[in-house]
Formats: sequence, structure tokens, C-alpha cells
Amino acid sequence: MTTIPDLQEGPAGYFDGASGRRRQVTLRLRSTLEVVADGAVVATWRLENIRRADGPAGRLRLGCISAVPLARLEIDDAAMIAALIARCHALDADRGGAGQTGRIVFWSLAAACSIVVLAVYGIPFAADRLAPLVPRAVEQRLGQAVDGQVRILFDAKTCDASEGQAALRAMVEKIRIAGGIEHPIDAQVLSSAIPNAIALPGGKVYLFDGLLQKAQSPDEIAGVLAHELGHEHHRHIMRALIHNGGTSFLVGLLFGDITGAGAVIFATRSVLQASHSREAEQEADAFAFEAMRRLGRSPVPMAALIFRITGAEGKGIGGFTILNSHPLTEDRLAAAKKQDRPNSGPEILSAAEWRALQSICKEN
Ligand SMILES: [Zn+2]
Repeated sequence: MTTIPDLQEGPAGYFDGASGRRRQVTLRLRSTLEVVADGAVVATWRLENIRRADGPAGRLRLGCISAVPLARLEIDDAAMIAALIARCHALDADRGGAGQTGRIVFWSLAAACSIVVLAVYGIPFAADRLAPLVPRAVEQRLGQAVDGQVRILFDAKTCDASEGQAALRAMVEKIRIAGGIEHPIDAQVLSSAIPNAIALPGGKVYLFDGLLQKAQSPDEIAGVLAHELGHEHHRHIMRALIHNGGTSFLVGLLFGDITGAGAVIFATRSVLQASHSREAEQEADAFAFEAMRRLGRSPVPMAALIFRITGAEGKGIGGFTILNSHPLTEDRLAAAKKQDRPNSGPEILSAAEWRALQSICKEN
């Protein structure tokens, strides 16, 4: 019989969840797990909060439900692995469940098939056909992981003035219903001066305050949000990720490493740098035009807003403008003008709601 000593020490690799850099650390396991780097405790994880994260065989990879979501420890030391497995009783608490296992098996098979498809037909073909196969749950998980990185990258927070949030929700709900999207959309305003809007995987849409401040009417913002929902509806973001990441991304999915630091940083970069294809932009526009038509509103203000920004500021601000992800060509403006019509539906937001939305990032 072996007894486990009160204090166990061993080496590990540590990702702090923010930088993506792997640090060599020492673990001190007693009533809690201390992560020690250069003689200082950089993190303390309660044993009951420690969970197994997916990783390669022979190595124990851990996360902690009360730590930064992407923080990870990687342990190769056999004695330390044994001690952690013995002491962390909730290691596998969130796993299992027949439904989840079924989904994972299904998705693993899909990914395995997809690699064959990729090899045979090439990536663009596969990306279009695979994106619709990715389960929403997987896409949402990826979206959540990317979300944290986006806020870090833009050094921004989400604005949460309650009246502004209510106005945004009302606007997004109208567009969602008009566009026939059945799953929920989580839209928020990001406190960044950059005029942009992005859709992340899994139904998350960010409107940047910089764009909101440049807008002169609710229709301008509604049109841009409708365009983003068009990307969401057609799953362009997943398509772009699969296309840009190709096999390495799929292999990551296959081995369940989707929230691993490398995959997330890659995915974030891809989402932010994504220039959707011309076809994707046209599909998103067509979705936006149709949603606005059903709401009885003209799509021209959307084009006018984007044109105002790209006209006035060119390709400026840090390389991230709405121009990067949504190049506006004369064709697109012309297409919007072709859809122009007198407004037959009610205003999307009241004057008071519009004021609340525009001041969502202002401190009260
Ligand atoms: Zn777009």
C-alpha cells in the first residue's frame, strides 16, 4: 500500500490563459494546488475546482473552473499525475452523459471523414460542406474561447448600461425574427473606438462603439447588424475558420483540443483577419436586404454608413476597420440602392431607445 505524502512537488507547463505562452512552473500540491514560477505563487487552484482538459495520451492537462477559462497546466511527471488523480475528486465531473459522448463520437467521425475529403478535393470544397456539419455546441464553445481573446486583443470591455442593452436586444430580435434565424443571438457593444462590427462563431455579435458613434440613424446600425447576422446564418465564420486553418484546425477539433491555447489564438486571428469571400459578402448582404425588406426599411442607410467610414478614414486605425472584414465595392452600394424603397414599416427603435443605445458605453 502506498500513501500519498502531504506535500507533493513536481514540474509542469503552465498557460496563464491570456498570453498563450507556456511557462515552466513547479506545482505544490497540498490542500490546494499552487502554481509556482520563479519562486512566486502565480496561481492557486482549489482541488475540487480542477478538471481534466483534453490532451495527448501520457500527459495530464488540467483546467480550473474558478480560474481564467483558458488557463491550463500540463503535467508529464508520473508521480505528480498519480497524486493529482488521487486528490482531485472532481477531475472528470463535467464529462460523460450519453448525449455528449454521442455528439463527440459523431463529430470525431465527421472530422475524420473531412480530412479525407480535404485530401481528395481540397480545402475550399470541404469548408463549404463541413461548416454546416459542425455542431452548434462545438461552435459555441469555440466562440466563447475566442470571445475572451477578442476582448484582450482590443483591450475593451462590453458596455452594459441597461437601457442601451434593452434597445440593442430589441433591435437584434427584430432582425433575427425577420431573417428567420431560430437560435439565440448574443449581441453586445464593445467599448472600442474602432468603427467595426464582427460576428464570432456560435451566435455572438459585437458592435463596436466606434461604429455606433458614427451612425446617424437606427436603420444604419440595424443594416450592419443584419449583415453580421447574415454571416452567422450562413455560418461563414466556421467556413472561414476551416478554410484558413485547413487540416490543422480539423485535427485540433478531432482531438478535442478546441480550447487549447494554440487553437484559440489561431481561431481569434482568423476571425479578426477574416476577409470573407466575395460570395460570402454577397450572401450576407442579401440576407440583410431581405431582413430589412421584411421590416419595411431600406438597406441604403447601412451602405451609407459604411461608405461614410471608409470614405472618411480610408484603411486607418490599427488595420482593423469594417473595411478589412467587409470590403465595400461599388457593386455592393449599387445593389443596396437597387433595393431602396420608401419605409413602410415602423421605426426599428424609438428616439429614446436610439439615444440609450448610442450612450450604452457612457458612464452614468
Ligand atoms: Zn461581411
